[in-house]
Amino acid sequence: MRSNSYRIVSYKIKHGYDVSGFLLCYRSLLQRAIDIIWSNIKWVRKWEKKYYIVEREGKKIRRYYRVRRLIPVVPRTKEFKRQLRNELMNCWNYAPHYVDSAIKVAYSILKSWRRNYVKGERRREKPVVKRLFVRVKETLYVYRDGRIRVTIAPRKHYLEFDLNRSWFKNRVKELELGELILTRHELIITFRKPIKEKYAERIGWDLNLFSLDGFSPKHGWVRVDLSKLYHIHRVHEVKRKKAQRVASRKFSVKERASRHGERERNRAKDFVHKLTTELTSKFPNTVHGFEDLSKNNMYGHSRKHNRDVGKQNWKQIVQYMSYKGRVELIDPKNSSSTCPACGGEMVKLRKGQVVRCVKCGLELDRQLCGAINIYLRMCGFPQSPSTFYRAVIRKMIPRWRMQMRALGGVATNGGEGDDMPSMNSRRWLSLMNPKAYIGLQKPT
Ligand SMILES: [Zn+2]
Repeated sequence: MRSNSYRIVSYKIKHGYDVSGFLLCYRSLLQRAIDIIWSNIKWVRKWEKKYYIVEREGKKIRRYYRVRRLIPVVPRTKEFKRQLRNELMNCWNYAPHYVDSAIKVAYSILKSWRRNYVKGERRREKPVVKRLFVRVKETLYVYRDGRIRVTIAPRKHYLEFDLNRSWFKNRVKELELGELILTRHELIITFRKPIKEKYAERIGWDLNLFSLDGFSPKHGWVRVDLSKLYHIHRVHEVKRKKAQRVASRKFSVKERASRHGERERNRAKDFVHKLTTELTSKFPNTVHGFEDLSKNNMYGHSRKHNRDVGKQNWKQIVQYMSYKGRVELIDPKNSSSTCPACGGEMVKLRKGQVVRCVKCGLELDRQLCGAINIYLRMCGFPQSPSTFYRAVIRKMIPRWRMQMRALGGVATNGGEGDDMPSMNSRRWLSLMNPKAYIGLQKPT
């Protein structure tokens, strides 16, 4: 899905030129190209497995047999093509580029013949060109101010076509002109129309217990508050413990204790549904990159419960996102401990919220670092200072300034309370203002 995909649209205009002589010459040139290629085809004997179907007792059974067939190998070497071109040039009096065009057409005719022959739909017969047409390559015309000038013979013979009076003039204003096909009474004009990419953007996400941190050059650092999700689990955990204490003494309450688990799961599920719906509507046409949790083995044994809760919801978030949008899974190996600029090791500073590269000194928020790394891996970019500068810094600097301004020019220490979830999550998808923390001693 690159931006160089096109759709071809074509239009016809009528013309009054007498080009039949030229068309006939081109047709015989094309046929001659086919003749030469055809006579140089090597035929290779091959055994082929075929089958027919017999019905026995209501069942269809395949019966196999082998046949010997001749399979054509079309010559394609540079040397052959050069000789072919020289030979065709001998009898051609128009612009030499038409010879290249004829060779191209001859190969494509033989290619489609070969495909059908191998399938058994065509016989072993040399294709014969019947239609009168000329394919005009891009090197054979000039397009300026809505006028096409086609070279027939350089400095001798040109044809001009005015598109300014055509009905499709406004439709093709911005489009790029492609190949032309000249027939006896018409000129068929093709235009390349760039296909609008459905998924134009990418955003890399780093999943954390209290926040979902995203990075894309367009949106910068996006932080989604997940503390509500944590609270659901936390509140239920407290209730569950209480209920379990009672249940151990009173048998009838045991049922209630198990019901707590179900309600907790439902509430969490509900949250994740609303979150993912909002994420996909807030970031439309975006490929969302998440760490591939199945490959993830990063958990230590500390704070095990938190990790388990997180992991369970993260899987759910990724799963629901993939229903509602497009998700790419990225290998998360060391995503928050590798420097996105130079690939060096990031060490934790200030209680672990900020990380610094031991090699180049880049300082980043830990979660932002993870998100940037996921984003870079999504794009297939290597960790190199120039890529980091081009893909991240150059696009981000204006945003960071803006975010700084929004925060009163002060990098707040919102990340300090890492172990205490913030309580301001009344809305489902609440975007937190990430603190604009990035240390740029060496931007390159
Ligand atoms: Zn570094």
